[in-house]
Amino acid sequence: MYKDKRESFLIYAAVITLVFTIIFVFFISNYYQKKDEYYAGRINELDNEINTTLHSYGLFSKYIYENYIETDYILELVDTAYEADTATQDLLRTELYDYLIDEYDHVKEYDFRQVHFHFPDSTSFLRMHFPEKYGDSLYEARYSVRTVNEDYVTIAGFEEGRVVNGYRFVYPLIRNGEHIGSVEVSVALTSVINVLTELTDSDYYFVIDKEVVYDKVYSEYLDNYQVTEFSENFLVDIGTIINCQDRNLIEERNFEDFLGSFDVDEIEKLDEFIEFGFSTKYEKKNYEVIFTPIANIEGEDVAYMISISEINGVRDLYLQNLLVGGLIFSLYIGILLLSGIFIRNRNLLQTISYSDGLTNISNRRKFEIDLNIEISRAKRYHNDLSFIMFDIDHFKDVNDTYGHKTGDYILEKLASIIKSNIREDDLFARYGGEEFIIMLFNSNKQETINKADELRKLVEGYKFDVVGQVTISLGVYKFKDEDTYETITEKVDKAMYAAKKAGRNKVKYIE
Ligand code: GH3
Ligand code: MG
Ligand code: MG
Repeated sequence: MYKDKRESFLIYAAVITLVFTIIFVFFISNYYQKKDEYYAGRINELDNEINTTLHSYGLFSKYIYENYIETDYILELVDTAYEADTATQDLLRTELYDYLIDEYDHVKEYDFRQVHFHFPDSTSFLRMHFPEKYGDSLYEARYSVRTVNEDYVTIAGFEEGRVVNGYRFVYPLIRNGEHIGSVEVSVALTSVINVLTELTDSDYYFVIDKEVVYDKVYSEYLDNYQVTEFSENFLVDIGTIINCQDRNLIEERNFEDFLGSFDVDEIEKLDEFIEFGFSTKYEKKNYEVIFTPIANIEGEDVAYMISISEINGVRDLYLQNLLVGGLIFSLYIGILLLSGIFIRNRNLLQTISYSDGLTNISNRRKFEIDLNIEISRAKRYHNDLSFIMFDIDHFKDVNDTYGHKTGDYILEKLASIIKSNIREDDLFARYGGEEFIIMLFNSNKQETINKADELRKLVEGYKFDVVGQVTISLGVYKFKDEDTYETITEKVDKAMYAAKKAGRNKVKYIE
């Protein structure tokens, strides 16, 4: 019985564990999916912020270009300069610089730090932001300038420069339908970062692939860059840190320390340029960090814009899921415990309600249930059912003489003798104190009487410990179609009573 219970508990436990494992796997994958979706949303937000900012700058840049640069005076000046000798070029450069300086100082206040004229061959004519540096060819290093001068189209995008990086807007200069060069009116990245910092509650940080910087930037300007705290393959334009006004979250003096505290696998894979986000703790506060790759004007990913927020979105999601996960786990343990208790009690109940504790054979209740099934079957199939009821003779004396314990032993022993001398599928039950009942299948009247007498003799001939001989009186009854459980037991009891009356240790049959 104990082993049975354990086996059925193990089966239940396995099924429950399987079901909960499926629920858990589903739950966890759902969590990761939600987390990915959350970060995808945040990355999208950041991209939108950046694009909105750049778009506004783009419109403003175009306004400057159309109103201050694309003038007959400037177009004529540049056209003339291109054809002129060096001395004349120098004069014209100075003239252009003086002509534009007031406007330049003005638009500089609106972040347009780079205003740069180039000739059609992409050599630099005048950098308003750096008038001493000119005459160098931008053909190789500046895709934007080259493209504008070759295709006569306007171009916009992030581009690394010989001197500074920026979000560049480059326009062709056309005079009388002829291409005479190009002009750049663009903003430094610091400006973009400043706008984002002002518009949101986040801090921003911009890093560029080290190789790109080494490749593009004039070596005398490499000092403007330093390695980032979280990856030696990425550099930050120092200007974007020191010129960043009013950080929202982390003070400048702690900023590098904060960046150095990142501890996620994705940092190892920065050179793959895949957007990602994570939450991190710094000085007891939670931050969410989003890395979004920035492509240069040629479409190659070369940099990352990083936003740092004090949002708890993903942590809340995590805590929520931890709670639900905990509940599911408790439910699992609870159901496991309940099933254990259920199985224990079910077996206990069954044992208590259907079998006799002393003899381990069926009790009267079980016999009644089984008999009712057999009665309805017998009525349908006209099976032969017959009954033997027997009672120990003078059992009271056994108890009185040898004690109750010996009486119990007799009952137990007797039940096992009878059990092993009837067929496996016959019903055998303890009907009352020292009364038993047997139902035999397919046994006619005479066969049943013979079987009853065989059992009588068997018991009579058995030598019980301590007590020695014990006899039983048996009644026999044969089932009729109209019989019920009550009529059967009444008749067979009557037959047994007749056997007692006839002097005990007898078999009596009743119609
Ligand atoms: P008779 O030949 O007329 O059947 O006489 P009897 O003494 O057997 O009949 P009676 O019905 O007077 O006594 C039955 C006795 O069986 C009384 C009761 O103490 C005893 N008995 C019933 N159940 C148990 C049991 O579980 N254990 C023991 N030891 N005795 C039991
Ligand atoms: Mg008796
Ligand atoms: Mg009795």
